[in-house]
Amino acid sequence: MSDSQPLSHILIVGGGTAGWMAAAALSRLTQSGVGITLVESEEIGAIGVGEATIPPIRTFNAMIGVDERDFVRATGATYKLGIEFVDWARRGDRYLHPFGTFGADMDGVNFHQYWLRLKAHGLGGSIEDYNLCAQAARLGRFQLPERDPRSILSTLNYAYHFDAAAYAAFLRGNAEARGVSRVEGMVKNVERRGEDGFVAAVTLSDGRRLAADLFVDCSGFRGLLIRQALGVGYDDWSEYLPCDRAVALPVGGNAQPLPYTRATALDAGWHWRIPLQHRLGTGYVYSSHHLSDDEATDTAVSRAEGEALGEPRLIRFTAGRLRKAWSHNVVALGLASGFLEPLESTSIHLVQAGISKLLAMLPDGRFTPVLEDEYNRLTSGQMEQVRDFIILHYKATERDDSAFWRSVAAMAVPDTLQRKIDLFRECGRIFWHDDDLFSEASWLAVMLGQNIVPRRWDPLADAVPIGDLSAIFDRMGKAMNEAARAMPTHAQFLAATINDG
Ligand code: FAD
Repeated sequence: MSDSQPLSHILIVGGGTAGWMAAAALSRLTQSGVGITLVESEEIGAIGVGEATIPPIRTFNAMIGVDERDFVRATGATYKLGIEFVDWARRGDRYLHPFGTFGADMDGVNFHQYWLRLKAHGLGGSIEDYNLCAQAARLGRFQLPERDPRSILSTLNYAYHFDAAAYAAFLRGNAEARGVSRVEGMVKNVERRGEDGFVAAVTLSDGRRLAADLFVDCSGFRGLLIRQALGVGYDDWSEYLPCDRAVALPVGGNAQPLPYTRATALDAGWHWRIPLQHRLGTGYVYSSHHLSDDEATDTAVSRAEGEALGEPRLIRFTAGRLRKAWSHNVVALGLASGFLEPLESTSIHLVQAGISKLLAMLPDGRFTPVLEDEYNRLTSGQMEQVRDFIILHYKATERDDSAFWRSVAAMAVPDTLQRKIDLFRECGRIFWHDDDLFSEASWLAVMLGQNIVPRRWDPLADAVPIGDLSAIFDRMGKAMNEAARAMPTHAQFLAATINDG
C-alpha cells in the first residue's frame, strides 16, 4: 500500500485477547468503509491466562461502548484496587501498590515529602493509611469513585480481574455486531509481494487465501507474520528479568473475593493469586535456571486454596520486545509483540495502548513510513518504562535467602531505572513524564514498599510546624479510614452489580 491509497481491508491474525480487542476497537473504522476480518484457529487456541488489569482498561471498555454491568457478568470479573506484594523486600514484609493517589495536595509540595519528615520524627502512620484504595483493599471493601473532586471518594481508582477467555468471547460479540467477519482456520503460509516485501495475503491449511492491505499480527508467542514471515528481531531482556516460565493453575471456589491481586515472592520467582467471581487464577512465574518445572508445579499445587480446575499448565517465554512492532504493513499486538511478566498486570494494557496508537495513526485510513517510525518509537518507550518498573521489584530487595534473589539483587539495571532509584534514595524525588504509564504514586508505593528509604526530604516541607503536620495527617488518615469503612464489602458490591437490572 502506498500513501496515496487509503486502507480498504484489515486482516487480524489471531483471536486471543489481543485479536478480539483489536477487532472490537478497529471496528470503529468499518464505519468509514474499511473491511475487517479476523482469522483464528480453535485447534491452536488462545493462551487463556491474563486476568489482572490496570485502570485504563475502563477507558478501553468505554471506547468500545461496553456497559460495565454486562462486562462484569459476562467475564466473571471482580474489582481490583491494587496489588499486594508479599515477601518481596524481605521475608515477612507486605505492602500494597494501590491505585489512586496518596494524601492530598499541600501547597504544591509533594504529600510524601511531608510524610518523610513526619516519619523522621517518629510520627504519622504507614503510607498506606493515606491512600483510600489501600484502606478499602485492606478492609475488603469497594465502591465506585465519586466524580466531585471535593469528595474523598474521588481519590479512588480501580481496574478489574476477569476471565481472559470470557473477555475475548465478549469482545467477539461486540466486534461481530459492528461488522467484523470471523474466519475459522489455520494460517499455513504468508505471501509477500516481490516489489516491497509487504504482506499480500495469508493462506489457510484448506487453501483459502485472505488478502488485506494491513495485517494485525495477534498470533501470540509465535508471531506468525512479524517474526516468522518478516523476520523482525527480538530484544531479549532476560538479563534483567530472568523469569522465563510459568505454571498456571486455576482453582475453584472464591466466596469472598478480595478486591486486589496478590503477588508473593517465592524462592525462584513469584506466585500470583487473582480472585474472580467463580474461581482463583493462580500460578508460579519462575526462573528455569533456579528451579525445575516439576518443583514449580509442586509448589503451585501445594499453594492451591481449593480444588484445581484442570491440570497445571506450563508456559515458556523470554522477556523482551520486538525491535519493531510495526514493520511493512504488519503491526504486532499482544504476545506477538513481546512479553513482560505479569507482575504489574501490564500486558493487556500494552495491547490497548498499541490499538490506541494505531487508531490515532489511521484517521484517514492511510499510513506512511513516518507514522510507522513514530509508532515504533512510542511503543519501544512504553515497553521500556514497564520493564524498568518491573525490574525495580527485583533489584530493590534485601533478600539473600536463595541464589535467585542474590542474583537479581546484584544485577546491573538499565540506566533509566538506576537514575530513578538514586534520585529517590537521595532526596525522595520522583519525576513523572507525560507518557509514563505508572504515576508518581505507583513509583512511590513500590520504592517505599521495597524499602528504599530517602536520605532527606524536600526542605519546603519544613514550613509547617511539626505538631500541626502531625494533626493534619491524623485527620486525613481517620477520614480515609472512615470513608473506607462506610463502603459495602467487595462481595456485597459485586452481588449488587451482577443482580442489578
Ligand atoms: P494468544 O492468547 O496466544 O492468542 C493467539 C491467537 O492466535 C489464538 O487465537 C490462536 O488460535 C491464534 N493463532 C496462532 N497461530 C495461528 C495460526 N497458525 N492460524 C490461525 N490462528 C492462529 N496480561 C495481563 O494483562 N494481566 C495478567 O494478569 C496476565 N497474566 C499472564 C500470565 C501468564 C503466565 C502469561 C504467559 C501471560 C499473562 N498475561 C497477562 C498476558 C496475556 O495473557 C496476553 O497478553 C493476552 O492474553 C493476549 O494474548 P494474545 O492474544 O496476544 O495471544
